[in-house]
Amino acid sequence: MANVGLDIGSTATKCVLWDGARFVYYLTPTGWAPAESAEKAVRMVCRRAHILKREDVHITVTGYGRNIFEADRRVTEITCHAAGARRLAPEATTVLDIGGQDSKVIRIDENGKVLDFLMNDKCAAGTGRFLQNMAVHLGCKLADFCNIPEDTELQPINNMCTVFAESEVIGLLAKGADKDSICLGLLDSVAQRAANLLSRVSDDGDICFTGGCAQNRLLARLIEQKTGRRVITPEKAQFAGALGAAVMEAVR
Ligand code: ADP
Repeated sequence: MANVGLDIGSTATKCVLWDGARFVYYLTPTGWAPAESAEKAVRMVCRRAHILKREDVHITVTGYGRNIFEADRRVTEITCHAAGARRLAPEATTVLDIGGQDSKVIRIDENGKVLDFLMNDKCAAGTGRFLQNMAVHLGCKLADFCNIPEDTELQPINNMCTVFAESEVIGLLAKGADKDSICLGLLDSVAQRAANLLSRVSDDGDICFTGGCAQNRLLARLIEQKTGRRVITPEKAQFAGALGAAVMEAVR
């Protein structure tokens, strides 16, 4: 029987099917109807793997919306991300996940077992939502945060709080500050928050950077500079939780 890992996130619903030989991936926005998005994601991975009946897969659900979906098993995001990171970057001692609405750091042992973790789910600062909100004020796209020219001078952003940082950005724009410099400053503040969170849980070894924000390679580089540690960004970083749920041994 194939295993399906379903991660219903605040922003994106990720689904991974593992049949013992290959992985099938699917991502869809969670939107305003998370149960429907989750159903669609499961349907799509099954269809792509040519599995016709839902009874032919064992589903493990995780993530922010895990309680709204009827699955075979429900597992916390921390456990799933640890298992996923273990698979994606076996050499990492630590997982840093920056998603749409929260960020977390997990210290793992060589078997992917969770030793310690810390989660910031109380405020948007340092998350994908922070950058998305700022992009609106700057009239730019999320992708622009990934394509800042090398020689850009960093404009420091002093406020960590999303609301105050918004006012600060609006003020800087009014003074004629350069947009790329502001973007770099905002990215730097996300990297600083991540470095602070990391230092509270783990102080050595490689970091496996997961979640949607890991797609921003510049952010990964800034975190590397601030921590002095290697930051690994696997190609399927955003799927880490779903992948972990799929490869975790199924209890049947
Ligand atoms: P969640 O599990 O909370 O839904 P994800 O780990 O799926 O979060 O990440 C979603 C976040 O990833 C979005 O809020 C967005 O900020 C960020 N993101 C998505 N795609 C990209 C990209 N190409 N570059 C940088 N950030 C991205």
